[in-house]
Amino acid sequence: MNRHELLEFDRKHLWHPYASMSAPPPVNLAIAAKGTRIRLDDRQELIDGVSSWWCTAHGHNHPEIVAAIREQAEKFAQVMFAGFTHQPAIELAAALIKRTPAGVNKVFFADSGSVAVECAAKMAIQYQYAKGKTQRSRLAALRGGYHGDTAGAMALCDPEGMHHVFGAYLQKNLFLPQPHLRFEEEWSESEFTQIEELLERHKKEIAGVFIEPVFQGGNAMRFYHPMYMKHLREICDRLEILLIIDEIATGFGRIGRYFGCEYAGIAPDIMCVGKGLTGGSVTLSAAIASEEVAEVISGTMPGKFMHGPTFMANPIACAAGVASLRLFDSYDWKAKVDAIEIQLKRELETCKNHPNVADVRVLGAIGVLELRTPPTPERVQKLIRETGVWLRPFGNWLYTMPPFITPSNEISTITQAMKQML
Ligand SMILES: *Cc1c(COP(=O)(O)O)cnc(C)c1O
Repeated sequence: MNRHELLEFDRKHLWHPYASMSAPPPVNLAIAAKGTRIRLDDRQELIDGVSSWWCTAHGHNHPEIVAAIREQAEKFAQVMFAGFTHQPAIELAAALIKRTPAGVNKVFFADSGSVAVECAAKMAIQYQYAKGKTQRSRLAALRGGYHGDTAGAMALCDPEGMHHVFGAYLQKNLFLPQPHLRFEEEWSESEFTQIEELLERHKKEIAGVFIEPVFQGGNAMRFYHPMYMKHLREICDRLEILLIIDEIATGFGRIGRYFGCEYAGIAPDIMCVGKGLTGGSVTLSAAIASEEVAEVISGTMPGKFMHGPTFMANPIACAAGVASLRLFDSYDWKAKVDAIEIQLKRELETCKNHPNVADVRVLGAIGVLELRTPPTPERVQKLIRETGVWLRPFGNWLYTMPPFITPSNEISTITQAMKQML
């Protein structure tokens, strides 16, 4: 098929994320990607300003990750994880638990972020079941949150957010007020009273609380004060509710710490990771439970955790993960993220007085402009082609999450492109 035929077939037969099939949004035909850039079939290169949906921390096609994938594919591409184990899974789990908070070290691999969230939800329910608290069959989450697109995960997303169509179909979870104090604001104890009251009132029904640490992504693009997490940890301990921290977007350096929970110095009972786990090369995720959660689930009938994806711990994905985590140890990612943060602050804060800008927010390698009126998809596509910068604004948010290896001149190109979209 030539270029025209490929795109024509795509328009007719391929669903794209969050897209119409009858009026499909414009798509670019990618033929290669390397470092910060995605090359299109017409030879234009786009700087990937969103790390291909927040994943490609070390840039596209990092040679060490590619080599790991190739080597593993030549040995074996897949073997079922029931009754088998393999070195890539073992090495990846070892690398992960070297970084997770102490005691959070029982690794359940899954296919995608949403599935890790499903696994964590099931773990929380099964944990309470094993403790004889069968009435604790609901979960709690923060308003403004995003935890994925599968049913269990949608039921944890902001009920007024992107999944509201499915409201009637979903489990009725308890929603806690959205953290209101910003990351950098002064903490005030009264901020937490409403969350505390709600959890107290519903404690007998609640198995676990899900949060995204510090950064609410897909439904808010907003950074909140770490003290909310500290207090949540305390009250969850007191009420014997599990605290599940969804690090799928924040993990692996994106917000300036290896994991977002480090901002509050707390450990979750279950942690979800995904996105950056393989450096954005292959889909893989994990729900990592504490020793206590794993012991309780394993110690009472049925005595095993009832989940098992067909491609669990896929060896190629795990090998990519091992290479990616090794890369984090091999260069000063923190210095790079800090430098990106400083530059994004400097270059985006000049937009504060623009009439179309309602707010500017930067933390780690995330820069967000909240707009009053978002640009039309046609205008976005035109400016992407003109500026050579790939951006994907959604809702009222125009944001960048560049790969950590993005040089400062390209960060400037990205912020310039954002300004043109205003
Ligand atoms: C992206 C994301 C998910 C879902 O991950 P998928 O791999 O898209 O299923 C879950 N939680 C958070 C916080 C995310 O950012």
